[in-house]
Amino acid sequence: MDSVSAKFIHDRFSDYYRINLSTIQPPSAIEKREFGFILFKERMMVRHKAFRTVERLRDFLKEIVPSDAYYSSAYYELPEEKMEAKGRLGTDLIFDIDADHISTPCQKTHDRWICRGCGHNSKGLPPETCPSCGYEKFEEKSWMCEICLDSAKNETIKLIDFLMKDFGYSSEEIDVSFSGHRGYHVSVEKNEVHALDQVARREIVDYIIGIGIEPELHGLSERPERGTRIIAGPSLDALGWRGRIARGTYELLLSSAPQDLRNMGIKPKTASAISKHSERLLRSWKDEGPWSVVRDVGAESWMKLALYGVEKESAKIDTVVTTDIHRLIRLENTLHGKTGLKKAKVAATSIEGFDPFESAVAFKKGTAKVKISSAPQFRLGDESYGPYQNETVELPTAVALLLLCKRRAKMV
Ligand SMILES: [Zn+2]
Ligand SMILES: [Zn+2]
Repeated sequence: MDSVSAKFIHDRFSDYYRINLSTIQPPSAIEKREFGFILFKERMMVRHKAFRTVERLRDFLKEIVPSDAYYSSAYYELPEEKMEAKGRLGTDLIFDIDADHISTPCQKTHDRWICRGCGHNSKGLPPETCPSCGYEKFEEKSWMCEICLDSAKNETIKLIDFLMKDFGYSSEEIDVSFSGHRGYHVSVEKNEVHALDQVARREIVDYIIGIGIEPELHGLSERPERGTRIIAGPSLDALGWRGRIARGTYELLLSSAPQDLRNMGIKPKTASAISKHSERLLRSWKDEGPWSVVRDVGAESWMKLALYGVEKESAKIDTVVTTDIHRLIRLENTLHGKTGLKKAKVAATSIEGFDPFESAVAFKKGTAKVKISSAPQFRLGDESYGPYQNETVELPTAVALLLLCKRRAKMV
């Protein structure tokens, strides 16, 4: 990055920490947490830092102005020591939902990857290995679009539902934030989760992503009744995965055309029977009647559809983050180095109406003139911007900063 653009970004981050320092809140038990910071200058990570009070943490932020600031999900006896000497006392239960892990139709239009081995590049998410040279490292040029962030929000809503209904946490016990880039963070800090080991956390992950959920073990069965065979399924308001399977499959029936059902491996005759009699099916389900009220739809088809129902109801969390008991997570109300937006808290109960493109905007004043190489159309606050292609524009500070941080523009 050129030095003028780099200085502009650094100066704005510095303004932010000078003016908004009091909004930086400490994680619980601040003295037991490890902190880490990415510095602008060397792009390197400084970690194993610890602070006894929030004032010291704030002074540090104001002093060094990091591009990114993190704290550990773990509590340590000696947080400043090397990893093996820290003495872990416990770890919060944390979840990360990132648009990078959810496939959306728009990814192909706004994301690109470039192989670091041979320079081969293409649209969408990067493959496991480069198709042209086999290398595994890529430079990713992603964008944070509304559709992608909406789908991340939907997954977060499903996760919160699991935590409240299946795990019994109240909305006040669940901390939710927009990450400042492409996703959401969710954490539970209750004492009882601290001692969970990696295996236990893996169990929780599997439950939430629906690994190994077999509808036959959750109330979907075929059995003889009065000389005929009926297929019965779990009821819509059943607890746990039973109700989720019923609701997921129900939603599927409501939203799928015959062609969609055929794409799920359902025979054409069965698919049209389902579509034709969907109202009768749904009525029977609502009255807790059998699933088998339509001829031509047998147990095998219902099993297939119920698995899609499981897929629909599962929450697409990043499995690695939850099982890592030493993870560093972004500190609330600090700025994200890739966007200049802040990590913004949202109440678990009001996430539905939360607008990340409004709540995460950290700069409300001033403008800056930038030369934009390319950017898709996007919104920040109430205004829409772009698309841009090789042009010089005067933009509000937050918008210019986003483009500069995303390496899509340079200061003029
Ligand atoms: Zn390659
Ligand atoms: Zn998108």
